[in-house]
Amino acid sequence: MEFRLTPEEERLRQVVEEFVRDELIPLEPDFANGPDIFEGSRWKSRVKKSQDTEIRRYIAIMEALEKKIRGEKTSAFGLSEPASGADPSMLQTTATPDGDDFIINGTKMFPTFADVADFVQLFARLPGTKGREGVTCFLIDTGTSGYQVARSIATIAGTEPCELVFENCRVHKSQVLGEIGNGWALNQAWLGARRFQVGIRAHGKAERVLHVVRDLVRHEPKDAEQFAGRVGYFLGEIEALRTLTYLGAWKADQKMDVRSEAANVKLFATELLHRVTDFALEVGGQSALRKNHALARTFRHARATRIVEGPSEIQRHIIQRELFRDGAAILELQ
Ligand SMILES: Cc1cc2nc3c(=O)[nH]c(=O)nc-3n(C[C@H](O)[C@H](O)[C@H](O)COP(=O)(O)OP(=O)(O)OC[C@H]3O[C@@H](n4cnc5c(N)ncnc54)[C@H](O)[C@@H]3O)c2cc1C
Repeated sequence: MEFRLTPEEERLRQVVEEFVRDELIPLEPDFANGPDIFEGSRWKSRVKKSQDTEIRRYIAIMEALEKKIRGEKTSAFGLSEPASGADPSMLQTTATPDGDDFIINGTKMFPTFADVADFVQLFARLPGTKGREGVTCFLIDTGTSGYQVARSIATIAGTEPCELVFENCRVHKSQVLGEIGNGWALNQAWLGARRFQVGIRAHGKAERVLHVVRDLVRHEPKDAEQFAGRVGYFLGEIEALRTLTYLGAWKADQKMDVRSEAANVKLFATELLHRVTDFALEVGGQSALRKNHALARTFRHARATRIVEGPSEIQRHIIQRELFRDGAAILELQ
């Protein structure tokens, strides 16, 4: 097994690290005191008409950042529904063939950015199918007739997912991604990749939170001593997570089945981020509990990471299913 990055990967890693260090972290104090309206995906429409000089200053920061991160096309992911979340095989949105087109009907719950993205990756099923059968993925531009954002829902995660209604939305068969009826495999492949991504992001945030803790206690030797053991334990967990992540990435590179590894990375990282941030709030005390404090914000966002892309209980289920696939009894492990 070789976990070393190639020179090209290492260059990319350095570019990302420099961007976060030089462009994002210096903005933390600004946003700790910033107005709430910049939280969430609809900030542009909310601030459009504002002449307030302070707000215009934040707009300039956000727009400058957007030009740097590139984002020419943005997408939303439409899988969850009112009656199908943790178990997406229950999805009910239908795609009824009609000549060279499909007619989409149904409701998607919580697709993030569906109100501001350029297009949505939508999962719907062929009529008369159930479970994993007949699921098909479509790429549908926002604004297509029959694509309606019923409402956007402000969450503690700092995003504003939507309720998205499809009413006789006609799409051409060329908008099918992959093969008709093969959307389940696509959705599982994406969820696997996205679980790695959520885990890796949570990993980076957990490290950042520990840096904030370090800055908080840097000039307080008593506090530093008091918290050193717990920081050390978290650092150990972060290293374990790094190994878990590299192992999963290596297996993915070998084209192995990494559903269980993706679940492991997501579960471990998001639960760790939650505990690290909870600890950091304890160290930071009352000032860190201000709603816009970077730690308070991270804490709110961290909670949602344990639900999106499949809740923690589902990740545990995937891991145990893999472990006991060959029928091993739980007692054999003792
Ligand atoms: C901020 C945010 C952003 C989101 N963005 C998107 C998005 O972009 N696209 C999208 O498609 N969806 C999105 N979602 C939806 C998200 O994927 C679902 O909320 C999630 O899959 C859980 O579905 P549910 O809320 O319907 O929970 P339910 O399915 O009702 O489950 C509730 C709880 O029951 C437990 N549970 C359920 N089934 C089992 C089981 N078999 N075994 C053990 N425990 C179980 C779990 O703890 C689970 O949390 C988003 C959600 C949030 C909060």
